[in-house]
Parts: sequence; structure tokens; C-alpha cells
Amino acid sequence: MIPTTLEARNVCFAYSDGTIAIQDISLAVEEGEFVALVGRSGIGKSTLLRILGGLLQPTAGSVVRSTDDAVGIVFQNHNLMPWRTVLQNVQLPLEISGQRDRERVRHLLDLVGLGDYADNHPAQLSGGMAQRVAIARALVHNPDLLLLDEPFGSLDALTRERMGMELVRIRQAHPITVFMVTHSIDEAVLLADKVCVMGNQPGTIVATVAVDLPHPRRLEMRYSADFQATVMEIRALI
Ligand code: ADP
Ligand code: MG
Repeated sequence: MIPTTLEARNVCFAYSDGTIAIQDISLAVEEGEFVALVGRSGIGKSTLLRILGGLLQPTAGSVVRSTDDAVGIVFQNHNLMPWRTVLQNVQLPLEISGQRDRERVRHLLDLVGLGDYADNHPAQLSGGMAQRVAIARALVHNPDLLLLDEPFGSLDALTRERMGMELVRIRQAHPITVFMVTHSIDEAVLLADKVCVMGNQPGTIVATVAVDLPHPRRLEMRYSADFQATVMEIRALI
């Protein structure tokens, strides 16, 4: 049996103002799996991601994570520290755990295409560039589990495709488990093994759709009949 990295059991969450954001969510992410979460704005995707990452405690239900110390999170807004340079921002998770690996930081900056911006400050970057710094920061301590909240949301279409394919490449080198929120059904189907669809109000998982495309994924797969059929199936569920 494949070990489960992350599991939510009947999770509910209400904010302190009484807003019930999500209701009775159960899902499992297996080791090495790539799970995408789609659903309309305000349905509770970010709330669920924060609960899965241990940043919010569920009001009811429970979350079990098998990799407590090695989780990388990319938030919807990049949360970079404005007084630190790009390099210092990416280095931060290492500093916190008492490490220092300038070479790895440089390598990750090259990977996200920001090798020339190491000494810039976040205010000098575009939204998309800042988001790529946040992705590098989330990868710097070699996490086993990556939680991504619309990580490519502010990127232009081409950079977005490139980053998606980078993620495919990174996972070939280091089999990392990924849970990604995205508003792009195409992106979800192209990258994920299964797509959870969130609906209703308060939000819950209304369907989980398996994606039967071979690995590694390639951009051309978007033109296949299987791809199109899966996208249409998910669209009908939202
Ligand atoms: P999504 O990521 O799918 O757009 P969110 O998880 O951000 O949705 O929000 C789900 C619901 O919870 C929305 O109705 C939103 O207004 C509400 N919400 C989000 N954050 C808070 C908060 N800090 N306090 C109260 N309500 C919130
Ligand atoms: Mg959100």
C-alpha cells in the first residue's frame, strides 16, 4: 500500500466572525502524488490549504500529516520580507533551521529564472517575479510536501506554462508530494494525478476526478482527446 502523506478527515472550519468556510472535507494525498484543488473564488480553497499546512486548526475533524518538518508552502500572496534581498528571502528557511547553503539558494534562483536578481529587493520585482521567489523559498529546504495556493496566479501565460513544466522537472529529480490550489482547470489536469473539485456553500469536495495521462506530463498533452474530456468533466462539476 502507498503511504498517505496527508489526510483530512471530516474537516470543518468556521472563522471567528462565524463564517463557515468549509464543511465536512475528507481527502487523502498519497506519497509522491500530485493533487490539484479547483473551485470558484471564495469557496474555501485557501482555508483548506492553511488547515492542511497546520496554520489553522480545524473547528471539527482532523488532519494527519506524515511529514511534519518538511512542508513547503507558497501562499496566494508571496509574503516576501521587503527589507531582505531576493537571495536573503530564499535563504530564510535555511537560516531558521541553522543551515547555510548559498549554492542551493543560487541554484533555485536560476531554476525560477531570477539568477540576475539575487541582490534586488521585493519592491523592485513584478508580481510574477516575486511569486517565483516565493516558490524558490518553498523549495529551498527540500520539502517532501509542497502546498501551493494559486502559485502561478500572477504570472503571464508563457511563464506560467514554463513554471508548470519546471514543477514536473523538479518532481522527476526529487519525488515531492504536491497539493496545489489553482483556478485553471487546464493547469490542474495537465499537472495533477487527481483533481478535487470544491463546490457548495460552505465549501466541500463535490467530486474527485482521476487524470489518466502518462508521466512525465508534456505541454502537448493538452491537445489530446483524454485531456479535453477530463477538462470538460471537471468544468461540468463546477
Ligand atoms: P478561496 O481561496 O476559495 O477563494 P477562502 O478560503 O479564501 O476562499 O475563503 C472562504 C470563505 O471564508 C469566504 O467566504 C471568505 O470570505 C471567508 N474568509 C476568508 N478568510 C476569512 C477571515 N480571515 N475571516 C472571516 N472570513 C474569512
Ligand atoms: Mg484563495
